[in-house]
Amino acid sequence: MSYNPTSMRAEEFIENSEAMETVEYAKANRFNMALIDSILEQAKLKTGLSHRDAAVLLACALPEQNARIEELANSIKREFYGSRIVLFAPLYLSDYCVNGCVYCPYHYGNPGVFRKKLTQAEIAGEVTALQDMGHKRLALESGEDPVNNPIEYILESINTVYSLKHKNGAIRRVNVNIAATTEENYKKLRDAGIGTYILFQETYNRTRYERLHPTGPKHHYAYHTEAMDRAMKAGIEDVGLGALFGLEDCLYEFTALLMHAEHLETVFGVGPHTISAPRIRAAAGIDLADFPNAVDDNMFAKIITCVRVAVPYTGLIVSTRENRECRQRVLNLGVSQISGGSRTSVGGYDEPEPEGVNTSQFDVMDTRSLDEVVRWLLQNGHIPSFCTACYREGRTGDRFMALCKSGQIANCCHPNALMTLKEYLLDYASAETQEVGGEVISSELGGIPNEKVRRIVMDNLAGIENGSRDFRL
Ligand code: SF4
Ligand code: SF4
Repeated sequence: MSYNPTSMRAEEFIENSEAMETVEYAKANRFNMALIDSILEQAKLKTGLSHRDAAVLLACALPEQNARIEELANSIKREFYGSRIVLFAPLYLSDYCVNGCVYCPYHYGNPGVFRKKLTQAEIAGEVTALQDMGHKRLALESGEDPVNNPIEYILESINTVYSLKHKNGAIRRVNVNIAATTEENYKKLRDAGIGTYILFQETYNRTRYERLHPTGPKHHYAYHTEAMDRAMKAGIEDVGLGALFGLEDCLYEFTALLMHAEHLETVFGVGPHTISAPRIRAAAGIDLADFPNAVDDNMFAKIITCVRVAVPYTGLIVSTRENRECRQRVLNLGVSQISGGSRTSVGGYDEPEPEGVNTSQFDVMDTRSLDEVVRWLLQNGHIPSFCTACYREGRTGDRFMALCKSGQIANCCHPNALMTLKEYLLDYASAETQEVGGEVISSELGGIPNEKVRRIVMDNLAGIENGSRDFRL
């Protein structure tokens, strides 16, 4: 078997010996100042890095060079994403699952988890509660179970989410994180108007993958790893990759994740829309002692830093698996999207889970409300954004990437962030958050370079004050 990023076979585009050799190469060069400096020069062009070069940066053990990698990640974040942070929330539909993933409490046969599936009426209740918090963007999550959670259930749920308009609220972008499925089902998801299709690889190491997924359809490594190819062939243009860091040596995982991104870019002309970086956490029946590759806070921050440097055009997501301190740190290293006010149980937004019932997939480490997260972002120099404009304006796939690579997307992101923040402040924020947010919007208006755009935004902000909603560029 030889490495081939254009191949449609998982064992060739995530070719194990290429990944292993890259890991060895990176480790062997972790003190190689001349090589690391030359990779940093290349990275400064802000056009991305190969998996090999990026792996050397992740392995780098030179403090001065590591500081420069962090500075570069911060500068790329500022250049491509400004100070905006897009907010979203997960909505768990069902924890029924036929798979045996040993790191997940939803695994089949875990007696410690209560099984539950939301009805459409319950979904409507959850979405109403999420809208009342101020969310506009959701990620739907569900276990894999062809009987309890067939594709028809997922499609019906998407329709329920999109159709609900409560007061000034609306969910404007529904991203979907469900198990690998057929091209035919991906077409159905595309036709249902999903935003990004998200699927985490968990681990790219085939041997480890098969051991950690001993039973169920997810056991099939190639079918899972080739899922994004089927999704993109089905016409889903925005896909979100991710690995569950801590299952395998993180250098291997990072390398293979970038090989996956390179494969998509080579074959489809567009890389992943987002990359998520969850890491293994304790949960009901899940003991961290069983995962010797679990990553500490410093390595986690370095992974985020190096992903940002390697793929400047890809959104980078960190969830409430991370606590406030960790999130604060990685926000300055390239993260562009975070969840806020999240529940990781099936339901739980509308009403808390009853005593003795636990359907959480993992423990939320940042338990603050969305209002608190928004205020915290504002107070730390970030602009919370509820923007969903691109997908609704047809800016997806290669059209989106072209705008992103040319830097033109910033002309839309910044004004849209201010307008959606204004909506949030008026409709959902506490008085304290309104005050901080109002000051930020006033000072940011002056930062819109184009006079005509500034005028449009000012008119739209006045329109929002007068009751209009959903302006976007
Ligand atoms: S990770 Fe996903 S597929 Fe695996 S047990 Fe959990 S919900 Fe099921
Ligand atoms: S304009 Fe597009 S890229 Fe920018 S925040 Fe909105 S949806 Fe995201």
